[in-house]
Amino acid sequence: MPDSKLINEINRRRTFAIISHPDAGKTTLTEKLLLYGGAIAMAGSVKGKKSDRHAVSDWMEIEKQRGISVTSSVMQFEYEGYCINILDTPGHQDFSEDTYRTLMAVDSAVMVIDAAKGVENQTRKLFKVCVMRHIPIFTFINKLDRDAKNPFELLSQIEDELGIATCTMNWPIGNGVDFKGVYDRETKTVLSYIPNGGQREVEKVEATLLDPSMDRLIGEANHAQLAEDIELLDGASDSLDPERVARGEQSPVYFGSALNNFGVEPFLEGFLKLTSPPLPRVSDKGEVSPFSEDFSAFVFKIQANMNKAHRDRLTFLRICSGKFTRDMEISHVQGGNKRMRLSQPQQMMASEREIINEAYAGDIIGVFDPGIFSIGDTICSPGKELRFEGIPTFAPEHFARIRHKDTMKRKQFVKGTTQIAQEGAIQIFKEPASGMEEVIVGVVGMLQFDVFEHRMRTEYNVEIINEGLPYQYIRWIDNEGIDPKELNLSSDTKIVQDFKDNYLLLFTSEWNIRWALEKNEGLILSEFNKN
Ligand code: GDP
Repeated sequence: MPDSKLINEINRRRTFAIISHPDAGKTTLTEKLLLYGGAIAMAGSVKGKKSDRHAVSDWMEIEKQRGISVTSSVMQFEYEGYCINILDTPGHQDFSEDTYRTLMAVDSAVMVIDAAKGVENQTRKLFKVCVMRHIPIFTFINKLDRDAKNPFELLSQIEDELGIATCTMNWPIGNGVDFKGVYDRETKTVLSYIPNGGQREVEKVEATLLDPSMDRLIGEANHAQLAEDIELLDGASDSLDPERVARGEQSPVYFGSALNNFGVEPFLEGFLKLTSPPLPRVSDKGEVSPFSEDFSAFVFKIQANMNKAHRDRLTFLRICSGKFTRDMEISHVQGGNKRMRLSQPQQMMASEREIINEAYAGDIIGVFDPGIFSIGDTICSPGKELRFEGIPTFAPEHFARIRHKDTMKRKQFVKGTTQIAQEGAIQIFKEPASGMEEVIVGVVGMLQFDVFEHRMRTEYNVEIINEGLPYQYIRWIDNEGIDPKELNLSSDTKIVQDFKDNYLLLFTSEWNIRWALEKNEGLILSEFNKN
């Protein structure tokens, strides 16, 4: 029987990711949540695109330059007995792979939507990634203090475009300069909006619709509109079904304004009530209960040089079961069950780190890594080895030949490209029989090339030459013992190898893939690397 402290600690954990189209307010909402947890002392340090003040969750130089979240950061805070882990995700479309990995590590997701814009391009893409994992999705419709779309229209857009049912937990009263607050459907009370610069303490007036003060509080017209909306909602909309929420089929929706800290607390409380503690995870030995006494975790993210002064590489683990204690011996399954101790385990408060003595299922910890871990690796109690399901890599869609400008920098070039590839930020390939003088780099989104170039310059002190290649599709050759040079391929198909010496083909079009399959009987091509 697991001890009651273990059960208690795991039961109070909530681990979720925040996703949004850039600018919808993800950073602002994260900051307000941290404010409630007392993890930061003051609101209002949200980045402006041109100012040099940046939100606490942004640390990479390139993010500051471009004003977008490129890497995903991890933050932990306590709130009313809960221990909450928030994982930030890059909003930019070129980093959907990072987002996917982050979503592998969480038990639910919060989707932030700009009330003036509704569902945006990137929301759609990120949402698809969430659906692949069937995790509960909560929606926060933000910026009600600005002119907003009709809330019914926003809901039907979410339902139609994202294919998920919605259940509104609260309802906005007016918007823009006329924003008066939200109506809580459960308690049937109005929480009125009084701008206060976004600090933690929100002045609230709670009153029911029948309260004689209501006309004065929200205005006669808003009162009438609200009564009509509520009647419509009560009659026509889905009621909350926690089981459907748990399966990712129904999304509870909250309205508010993150910047003004309005609606954030009701959202947080509702969210905490509806989300589950850490969920079981699938492994090759069956389902692993978080409450198991055996420790297990998997690597979902690797990041080098988070702090330039330290020149370190941090591996992020999601703990799936049991308890982690500092100095405990663990087994690295993909490293041949190698026994080791994890070096300087730490938890993050944005870019601040703290060495920890213990952590539980649901938590995310970072450990120093001399270069042994890869994304998807399992780490567990010695003698209790198992493997969690792998994390698939996305097939790159853009390719370039990369060389170093200065031949004296060969060593740094090799180190930089290899490390950045191990982090999963790029994929690297080589032409058969070539050395490491140049590599072929594949990325899912073009911006990853910019980040790569920037990091090579600032972290490894190497200037690179980037020669774009016309390929768009990549396929691994799955046949054993085939000599790719014997294959009958169109002239613009390129043979490359990954760094485990597996052969791959790069194609400029789908037509060429079909050509290769037709002209080479028995050839087996796959989109994913199965090795
Ligand atoms: P992210 O790109 O999704 O992380 O978005 P940010 O949190 O950086 O917000 C983008 C911009 O919207 C910033 O200028 C914020 O100050 C602003 N913003 C965020 N929430 C609100 C809100 O509730 N109301 C208004 N008016 N602006 C907001």
